[in-house]
Amino acid sequence: MSDSDGKKTLGLGGGRGGRPGNVKQSFSHGRTKNVVVETKRKRVVVPKPGTPKGSATAAPAGDPTRRPAGISDAEMERRMKALQAAKAREAEDAAKRKADEEARAADRQRRREEAEAKERAEKERVEALKAKAEEDERKKREAEIAARRAAEPAPAPAADDRKTSGRKEPAREAPRRQEEQRPSKGRGDDGGRRGGKLTLNQALSGGDGGRQRSMAAMKRKQERARQKAMGGSVEREKVVRDVQVPEAILVSELANRMAERVPDVVKSLMQMGMMVNQNQSIDQDTAELIVEEFGHKIVRVSDADVEQAIDQVEDKDEDLKDRAPVITIMGHVDHGKTSLLDAIRNARVVAGEAGGITQHIGAYQVEQDGKKLTFLDTPGHAAFTSMRARGAQVTDIVVLVVAADDAVMPQTIEAINHAKAAEVPMIVAINKIDLPAADPTKVRTDLLQHEVIVEQMSGEVQDVEVSAQSGQGLDTLLESIALQAEILELKANPDRAASGAVIEAQLDVGRGPVATVLVQNGTLKQGDIFVVGEQWGKVRALVNDQGDRVKEAGPSVPVEVLGLNGTPEAGDVLNVVKTEAEAREIADYRIQAAKDKRAAAGAATTLEQLMQKAKEDENVEELPILVKADVQGSAEAIVQAMEKIGNDEVRVRVLHSGVGAITETDIGLAEASGAPVMGFNVRANASARNTANQKGVEIRYYSVIYDLVDDVRDAASGLLSAEIREKFIGYAEIREVFKVSGVGKVAGCLVTEGVARRSAGVRLLRDNVVIHEGTLKTLKRFKDEVAEVQSGQECGMAFENYDDIRPADVIEIFEREEVERTLD
Ligand code: GDP
Ligand code: MG
Repeated sequence: MSDSDGKKTLGLGGGRGGRPGNVKQSFSHGRTKNVVVETKRKRVVVPKPGTPKGSATAAPAGDPTRRPAGISDAEMERRMKALQAAKAREAEDAAKRKADEEARAADRQRRREEAEAKERAEKERVEALKAKAEEDERKKREAEIAARRAAEPAPAPAADDRKTSGRKEPAREAPRRQEEQRPSKGRGDDGGRRGGKLTLNQALSGGDGGRQRSMAAMKRKQERARQKAMGGSVEREKVVRDVQVPEAILVSELANRMAERVPDVVKSLMQMGMMVNQNQSIDQDTAELIVEEFGHKIVRVSDADVEQAIDQVEDKDEDLKDRAPVITIMGHVDHGKTSLLDAIRNARVVAGEAGGITQHIGAYQVEQDGKKLTFLDTPGHAAFTSMRARGAQVTDIVVLVVAADDAVMPQTIEAINHAKAAEVPMIVAINKIDLPAADPTKVRTDLLQHEVIVEQMSGEVQDVEVSAQSGQGLDTLLESIALQAEILELKANPDRAASGAVIEAQLDVGRGPVATVLVQNGTLKQGDIFVVGEQWGKVRALVNDQGDRVKEAGPSVPVEVLGLNGTPEAGDVLNVVKTEAEAREIADYRIQAAKDKRAAAGAATTLEQLMQKAKEDENVEELPILVKADVQGSAEAIVQAMEKIGNDEVRVRVLHSGVGAITETDIGLAEASGAPVMGFNVRANASARNTANQKGVEIRYYSVIYDLVDDVRDAASGLLSAEIREKFIGYAEIREVFKVSGVGKVAGCLVTEGVARRSAGVRLLRDNVVIHEGTLKTLKRFKDEVAEVQSGQECGMAFENYDDIRPADVIEIFEREEVERTLD
């Protein structure tokens, strides 16, 4: 655990409250470190709703008649449940969105009402002022008249007065801006107003000498001001625009989209009390007020809405046509994956090509009884899971290669687990059957232990004996694949905008970025504009698996695509869109979203949150985890214990369990399934650690099975206590090993991290596997016995009662903390 950012603690932070526990260790250099779990964050149990998925890859689990082989009733039932739960959740999400939208609408309404109320109050105030002025005037006149009447009786000019006030009426509609400016100007005029004849115009404009100005002039002035505020002439105002406003928008951009002048928009904002300049962004609600103020119509778009340019129409049944199955070959190293792929290709590629070098594009198609089969030429589990993690499920069938002269090996198990996690049916190819040492029966029995029951064992998984070398059994294998494909009833609609998945991509010196794309739905054509992951482009050329230029590629056809503006990643989904602007917008949005995601990774999901979430979902199905242990026995024990944890709400599902250090492949699988990785007496290797950090996969380390089981159980039942069991305080690397008479073997070490403490517990790690745990017999700095050695310093260490130490071994120094268990 060399990275010091493992912010998770072994103790599980606040259970129900979701408050993650956080135990800090302090090192001498003022550094601090938190313990036991290296990485935190991410992963949700449910499939991401937004994840684009080719409809072609609809989970076969939904339909029992299309059940993949090798899946038991119980499994099936569980999947159906999971599916239902996911659906329910979707509905819930939709309801929530609706509620949110309503709340927002209510909020908007409230704000508008507030604004209106304010306006009304202001108006009333002005009116009162005006009334008062008139009243004053009236009184004065009355007094005058009375005085005059006293002298010589004359007709009352009251009618005249009324007329004047009648003409004043329209001025009340003066825009808010003027109303707001009025008080200050008006106040300065008070004396004058009282003193002389005060008209409404005077009151409104506060103008001196307003008495001399004609009414019409004043009105014109007001009208001009109003038009200016509204952003132009009356004619221009008639153009009511639908203004698309995202969740946040720059003032200048808003003005641009309304086709209004920026200063006018800024002014308008200021009148609303928002002091912003054109380069600042405002939120959607504020923008709405402005848009309405200018007489346009707002169209609210959420950022993610840009993705909607992607054609998401569901295909009608009658539009669906059969498509070729897509097959991935997996298996342990050296069991013959590459040989098998080559053998199939050479046996089936059109005459004339055979033996020749066909262009390698990472996938190829062969024909079996007039039907096409698409093989992905990218064996390797990492590719498989990383694609799945990126939302592309391209594989319909997994061919599991097991060498008949060998047995089920770690990567075989991994492949099985990958296929199971992806819910893809499997066909077992027992390879190297030509070898004298071949023992296919052993392979079949071995597979039983991993819940792969082949047909020969009265199971449902097809098994075929083949030899990639002699070509024996290849036909049967292809027939089996075709049969499996038939059961799956794979269909796609060739008559729509294409979508597909990137199988591999690279920057070609001569041709620019090139991506091999497996079309999954629709038909990709030359000239199509597309977005692929964070890149976009326009199809300049399509090259098929034979190296020929083609004009178009339909479902299940792999093609090389030229014309990208950047290099996408394997697993990225390609979608054809209508315009370049759309493509660019989506790509930009995704780049931003990816950035945000990375930024938000710190606040990500840990095991507790995962469990918590699972608990909150009422129809909870399963909590996926990965288990890596030091020996097979402990792995099995853990898996068994995990299986027992389940209750009505939460079931723990071990996606994969294995022996040895936690590797990148483990992280890949964990990421794809949103599972944490539980290491029992093993550690993650450096690359796995990095990947886990990047991908936000949580790794937890344990040295007591009970602790591991307990944590998961507690989490599952929502009884997590903020308990810390132990913390790593340092790491030391063994540089040399000396024999000291009387003491035994002494390790010459460098403390690489934290601190080595005499009193602390120690573990010896070899290849990231814990091989010994105990205490120190001695901790020496030069000749002296010391209590502590700091990071960066060299020291001598010897274990109590343990001698098998070697250079390059790592010593992990940890302390236990006694924390009371809370029983709440
Ligand atoms: P991969 O690591 O799974 O891709 O395995 P390869 O295809 O590279 O094969 C590993 C080794 O097994 C190579 O030396 C192949 O020649 C050999 N091999 C593969 N298939 C057969 C087979 O059917 N029979 C025999 N005798 N050897 C095979
Ligand atoms: Mg190979």
